[in-house]
Amino acid sequence: LSARVEIPPGKNEFVRLAQTFNQMFERLERSFEAETQFTADASHELRTPVSVIKSACEYAEKYEETPEEHLETISMIHRQADKMSRLIGQLLSITRLDQGTDMACQEKVDLSALVEELCAEQTYPKDRLLCRCEPGILARVDTALITRLTQNLIDNGFKYGKPDGHVWVELRRTAEEIQLSVKDDGIGIDREQQEKVWQRFYQVDPSRSERGGAGLGLSMVRKIAQAHGGTMTLESISGLGSTFTLHLPLEGMELKEKI
Ligand code: ADP
Repeated sequence: LSARVEIPPGKNEFVRLAQTFNQMFERLERSFEAETQFTADASHELRTPVSVIKSACEYAEKYEETPEEHLETISMIHRQADKMSRLIGQLLSITRLDQGTDMACQEKVDLSALVEELCAEQTYPKDRLLCRCEPGILARVDTALITRLTQNLIDNGFKYGKPDGHVWVELRRTAEEIQLSVKDDGIGIDREQQEKVWQRFYQVDPSRSERGGAGLGLSMVRKIAQAHGGTMTLESISGLGSTFTLHLPLEGMELKEKI
């Protein structure tokens, strides 16, 4: 059933009105389709760990006898439950960002100190994570969200890096904006995939599931950037590495002064 209206003949305002109505209808239809797809993908991602847990329980009930066998099954169930919990957390976070309810606490912070602290807290080898921050960059941001964005990009840098690869975190300010970039010398992303990695549930190579994740991280990263009035860009060369950059406009932030 289509709610599109028939375009009347001629070139008057009724025609333009009908065309506008149809365009609005098509946009609404695309947005409903995207929501349906999101629900389908989310259900699919959650169903997999649930099935693994269910069959592990059934197997344990029927065939397992020793405490060692039980312990192994319990730790597997634990891993799957962690996976579900991470996924549900990301889904909730995306929903809150969509509703605009996750941006409650924007405060003026020393972004340089925040990023440096986050890098210092990482458990990745110190010689593989390199952090260079221009000092005293202030910004009005939601600390928890910017931390999540940066952490996500650092984790991806290592997840899709080479075994001994590096990740560089850099914070700088230009005349117009603050730039936070996370660069790696990892596997890189093909040109034709670069636009798609921001889509929910999109993974360049879903078969490499040992890397974990469900393809939600970057869509969350982009939403966080947008919630701050910023944008994300990606530069990447397949086989050589990727650079993800957050651009936060200085305009309206009243933050040109230094600490
Ligand atoms: P996830 O890592 O959970 O799969 P993301 O949304 O964080 O999901 O990333 C989407 C996809 O983009 C990943 O599956 C991966 O294929 C690709 N990708 C993300 N970050 C990088 C990176 N630093 N280098 C290469 N590929 C990446």
